[in-house]
Amino acid sequence: MTVEALHGAEVAIDVRCLLGESPVWHAPAEELLWVDIRNATLHRWSYRSGNTTTVEVGHSLSAVAPRASGGYVVATRLGFGTVDEEGKFDMLALVDAGLAEHRMNDGKCDRQGRFFAGTMSERRLPGAGSLYRLDPNGSVARVLRGVTISNGLDWSPDDSIMYYVDSEAAGLDAFDFNHDTGEVTGRRRLVEIDRRLGLADGIAVDEDGCIWVALHSGGAVHRYSPTGALLARLELPVAVVTSCAFGSSDLGDLYITTAVRPNEHEDLAGALFRYPAGVKGFPGRSYEG
Ligand code: CA
Repeated sequence: MTVEALHGAEVAIDVRCLLGESPVWHAPAEELLWVDIRNATLHRWSYRSGNTTTVEVGHSLSAVAPRASGGYVVATRLGFGTVDEEGKFDMLALVDAGLAEHRMNDGKCDRQGRFFAGTMSERRLPGAGSLYRLDPNGSVARVLRGVTISNGLDWSPDDSIMYYVDSEAAGLDAFDFNHDTGEVTGRRRLVEIDRRLGLADGIAVDEDGCIWVALHSGGAVHRYSPTGALLARLELPVAVVTSCAFGSSDLGDLYITTAVRPNEHEDLAGALFRYPAGVKGFPGRSYEG
């Protein structure tokens, strides 16, 4: 099968991040949210006004989602927390407590309003991390053990499958997802990605059920079919492509976060890109707690 070469991603929002991550489209506000892990900031870009608001949180954030009751739920270095519109932070629950070299990483809400986010050892100790689930009642459950770099996750349009990236495992896995309980079973490898093409990072599922995978250090986003076939490759002018999410009022644009590579200069590193995807995606989901 021929892999379609996609071009035309452009800088959408020229707010430079050291390590941009966790783009999420907050449809009720028509805003794109994303974080800069290394700067401990939360960015909000208004689709209507074009203005960006940067909230200094004072805690390193690795993932964000809107909260149905207002403000945001976040994954921080130490665990789950909340941030209000002014940036006031409250800790909700510690995870991997006592593991000083651990931090949380990517996260996302499911359709039932649970917030999933995983952890990693800063030394990348194999299998030291976990994936956790913050339920709307505030309780935390460990969903998976034995993860090295917990990263992107998203769900199939019918909610029967959870797609998941452990970056160190160099590919994309699928699980059967129980949307009543939030439990995952039946792990299988969906896509192998040659490490020379970059490491799988954040992901986004579109309306056709295809999975867009950001390639860290690979300068691209790949689109895979639900059966794992590589359909298309979108080139970006930046090496460290960290994550992607659908947004804009018609949900037809793919927003892509990037990062600066230490000791290297790239003109557009850390900017947020937009690509008119030709297929629609799903808006970001809120934490219902
Ligand atoms: Ca990531």
